[in-house]
Amino acid sequence: MRYDVFLIKYAEIGIKGKNRYVFEDMLCHRMRSRLEPLGNFRVRREYGRILIDALSDYDFDLVTDRLTKMFGVTHVCPGISLEEKDIDKIKESVIGQIRDGYDDRSFSFKVRTKRIDKSFPIDSMQMNMLIGETLLNEFDAEGLHVDVHKPDVMVEIELRDKVYIYTRSIPGPGGLPVGTNGRGIALLSGGIDSPVAAYMIAKRGVEMEAVYFNAPPYTSERAKDKVKQLGTIVSQYAGPIKLYIVNFTDIQLAIYDKCPHDELTIIMKRFMYKIAEQLGLRDDCQCIVTGESVGQVSSQTSFSLKVINDAISELPVYRPLIGMDKQEIIDISQKIETFETSILPYEDCCTIFVDKHPVTKPKLEKILESEKALDGVIEPFLKKAMDEVEIIYLK
Ligand code: ATP
Ligand code: MG
Repeated sequence: MRYDVFLIKYAEIGIKGKNRYVFEDMLCHRMRSRLEPLGNFRVRREYGRILIDALSDYDFDLVTDRLTKMFGVTHVCPGISLEEKDIDKIKESVIGQIRDGYDDRSFSFKVRTKRIDKSFPIDSMQMNMLIGETLLNEFDAEGLHVDVHKPDVMVEIELRDKVYIYTRSIPGPGGLPVGTNGRGIALLSGGIDSPVAAYMIAKRGVEMEAVYFNAPPYTSERAKDKVKQLGTIVSQYAGPIKLYIVNFTDIQLAIYDKCPHDELTIIMKRFMYKIAEQLGLRDDCQCIVTGESVGQVSSQTSFSLKVINDAISELPVYRPLIGMDKQEIIDISQKIETFETSILPYEDCCTIFVDKHPVTKPKLEKILESEKALDGVIEPFLKKAMDEVEIIYLK
């Protein structure tokens, strides 16, 4: 069966009052660019829905996969549209969808009609009854039956400019359309946590950029490829991501050379934050995003996070995983399909230089004192890192 229309349902953007149009328009705009390579589609706004007309052939699985990964979408409903508002045509189409769409028809159903076009002579209650009856007459013998409380299949009819009929609702991720809530820069490593963090903030409508710190030759090209791969998976939800790759080697070596080794991770993270803030400000970002979770490792104790946070003052740091257990984070990474890539073995620049007994209760004054040894040494390295930053666009 060829579905000629997709009805897109959204929840949260429906309740944003006057701003609602901004959200809907952004979602339409994103959908157009997401669907562009997949065929000829018309994306339009109709009261309470976004409707997508398929004007050419298309790959159903590809299209539904793209649409169900778009933030703002709660359900994607493939359906059939009828130009003619004729009850016999409607009956025929519903029967056709049940016959062609389901091999085993021994399920329960309920009919739900939305009559937006009030000029249609049959009201929703009557329509529900008529279509219910028609389906029972047709498929009763095969075990089809009505359940108004918990139906297996909801047969939906929407009377609008045309008649729309659908029986499938594929869940989307929810959230808000990307681009409706500014821009942020995520510290993206090859681990499990940071891709999940970027996903979560993008889900609230924030367009994402990312920065990865590598330390060649201590970290390999493979580690970098892995980060690109993770960013690409996140971009299937978040839309195109501008990824900065910062060569951190000289900075790390300087810190290693000049600072106490038990403070390395803290000082390194402070410099990562500083560089991320610079890059973010340059691109008009309003926040930095990290995958930190309180207590997970020594650099993520409350004490460490405070001292790291103190490295910057202009951009706030969003840490969506801050109160989550590792297993909860893993569950999300499996759901969004970053997990398998995240667990591939790789070297991170942080782990290579890590001390056996890092401080867990760093004091800001002490760290600032240690960092004084970098004065006059680190500045040219910071400048070089910024000047030579590599930019890759992921999508
Ligand atoms: P992840 O699983 O995201 O790598 P983690 O549990 O390994 O996190 P840390 O290594 O302490 O924890 O890193 C904490 C956060 O710092 C990461 O979630 C990420 O946001 C950022 N980060 C760490 N290493 C890098 C890196 N090489 N490049 C960019 N960001 C990094
Ligand atoms: Mg890591």
